[in-house]
Amino acid sequence: MANPNPTSGKTFVVEHLDPELEAWSSLEYYTIASECHATGAKFLLSSVPASLKLPANLQHAAGLMVETRGMEEIYADQKDKVCLLDPAASEDLCPDDGGLFDIFLFGGILGDDPPRDRTSELRKKGYQGRRLGPLQMTTDTAVRVTRMVVQDKIAVDKVPYIDHPELKISKNESTQMPFRYVQGKDGQPIMPEGMVDLIKKDSEKGLGDLL
Ligand code: SAM
Repeated sequence: MANPNPTSGKTFVVEHLDPELEAWSSLEYYTIASECHATGAKFLLSSVPASLKLPANLQHAAGLMVETRGMEEIYADQKDKVCLLDPAASEDLCPDDGGLFDIFLFGGILGDDPPRDRTSELRKKGYQGRRLGPLQMTTDTAVRVTRMVVQDKIAVDKVPYIDHPELKISKNESTQMPFRYVQGKDGQPIMPEGMVDLIKKDSEKGLGDLL
C-alpha cells in the first residue's frame, strides 16, 4: 500500500462505505483519481475490504491509492486537519478553508433519492463538516467542487452548476438525474466517461425486468 500521508498539496479521501464496489462507483473513483492526478492533489480510497477485488479500471489507475484501513486509523493524529464534506453541515465550504484543512473526506456512497443520509456514518466520528450548497451531488462532483473551492479559490455559489439534468436514454425516453453537476466547457454536466452509457444500459435492464 502507498503511504497516504500528505507531503504537499491537498489529500482527498473517499471512505468506501458499501460492501461491494459497483460499476457506477468504479467510474466515479476512476474519474476522481485522474482529475486529482492532473491537478497535483492526492486521492486515497480508504476502507476497501481486503476481500474485494478491485474492478479492472481501478487496478492501475494513475493517482489512486487504496487502503483497507479506515480514515480514523490512517489519520488518527491529524483529525483537526480533516474536513468532512457533509450535506447536513451548517456551514458552506469557502476558499479560506483551504488554509484550515489538509484532508477532505467524502462518503463513498452512491447517491440516492431521497437521500438516506449515510454520510452520518462519517459525521458521528466527530470531524469538522462543511456543506457544498443545498443540493445532493455525486461523489465525483463533490470532490470536483471541493477542489475548485479550496485549490482554485472559487466561491461555492459561483461554480457553474447544472441541476437535475435530463438524459436522453432512447428515442422516446429520458431520465432525470436527481443530482447537481458542474457545467463543463461544452455546456453539458460533467460526468465520468462511460457513465451515460451505463445509465442507459441500467435503464434498459430495468425495463427488461418489467417485460
Ligand atoms: N445520499 C447521500 C447520503 O446518504 O449522505 C449523499 C451521498 S453523496 C452521493 C456522496 C458524498 O458526496 C457524501 O457523503 C458527501 O461527502 C458528498 N456530498 C454530496 N453532496 C454534498 C453537498 N451538497 N454538501 C456536502 N457534501 C456533499
